[in-house]
Amino acid sequence: MLNFCGVDTNFQPFLFMKKIAIHWQILIALVLAVLAGVWLPGSVKYVDWMGTLFLNGLKMIIVPLIFTSIVAGVANIGSGANLGRIGLKTIGYYLLTSTLAILTGLLMVNIIKPGAGVNLNKVAEVDGLSGEQPSIWDTLLGIVPDNVFEAMVKGDILSVIFFAMLVGFFIPRISAKYSAQLVNLMNGLYEVMMKITMFIIKFTPFGVFGIVYKEVAAQTDVLELAKGLGGYALTVVVALLIHAFGILPLILKLVGNISPIKHIRNMAAPLLTAFSTSSSSATLPLTMGAVEKGAGVSNKVSSFTLPLGATINMDGTALYECVAAMFIAQYLGIEMTIAQQVTVVFTALLASIGAAGIPMAGLIMIGVILSAVGLPVYYVGLILAVDRPLDMMRTAVNVWSDSCAAVIIAKSEGEKLNY
Ligand code: ASP
Repeated sequence: MLNFCGVDTNFQPFLFMKKIAIHWQILIALVLAVLAGVWLPGSVKYVDWMGTLFLNGLKMIIVPLIFTSIVAGVANIGSGANLGRIGLKTIGYYLLTSTLAILTGLLMVNIIKPGAGVNLNKVAEVDGLSGEQPSIWDTLLGIVPDNVFEAMVKGDILSVIFFAMLVGFFIPRISAKYSAQLVNLMNGLYEVMMKITMFIIKFTPFGVFGIVYKEVAAQTDVLELAKGLGGYALTVVVALLIHAFGILPLILKLVGNISPIKHIRNMAAPLLTAFSTSSSSATLPLTMGAVEKGAGVSNKVSSFTLPLGATINMDGTALYECVAAMFIAQYLGIEMTIAQQVTVVFTALLASIGAAGIPMAGLIMIGVILSAVGLPVYYVGLILAVDRPLDMMRTAVNVWSDSCAAVIIAKSEGEKLNY
């Protein structure tokens, strides 16, 4: 079966697992890893390569995926006559709601403190924390790289995002002969990167097995680990619920004078699809259908807001990334200064903009935040175990926020909606 991006969703490297859905595979791997870690901690040396290989694969795809996704996205928008008033409104809405989502997450993680007091043996040394932390100003200045290739080699994501946006912006502004070819090329490259990403994701059960096995084998208190991750997952879920059922409906009602209940009813199919596929990109055709046919938004508004939203507007992802980074800091017993928390908010926003609308994209981007505040990227492996259910929920919130933008902007353009 091919999904809308042309990704073969049925491909499975190990045929005997073909019949089992990937989230069940991950769950099975997780349970087996915990059991193995408890009963056979000494054998971890035979399987921890799985986790290393999987994380290497994820890291390998970050730069090319982000680069092609942003260049293609920005170039596709720029080639129409759509950038303008609607563009500014849309981007303004996206930045605002993503920031509100992050602040909700930050508030909840500071109130609940899911990582504090969770006493676990560390499996990696905490490198570089005693040294100088880069200031926000340095981080901001560093967004413009002095050498873009070096930025790519070092995996300096903010610089890669910046350069990709410039490339995407200027592609439609050169002679038509070349720009048409480049847009095609970038769209094609992006699809290839998506395919590679989906291919890597197929190995998640093995990666989870290797990583969780190693983590559990190093623990003296497995219950404590479960307790720690349970609290973290709960924090993400509570914050997501507040944002999706509190803040966004309030904006719908107050700014757009639109009934949140009617809108959520209209959006049920795309939201369930987002939940089951964990991909806002794959859900996009359904979202556009519901917003245009159900809500009555014009194609002019929906064709601009929704594809852009699927790429850059990820409220759920932004919120989750902030909570995850703060959780890892709490877990490591590191008190985050206000300046560091501001860096987390800022980088979570950029990371959610840079994340692709595919499963686990948000998880991959947490590395950006961790490096920005000087935490070891290795600890992304810690939260991998509970990523799938959280991915399902945050993807639904991502799509929900995009759809709210579309109806609010259509209303502000004087369009008459069906409800
Ligand atoms: N899966 C999310 C989406 O497609 C992105 C993420 O991993 O947070 O919207």
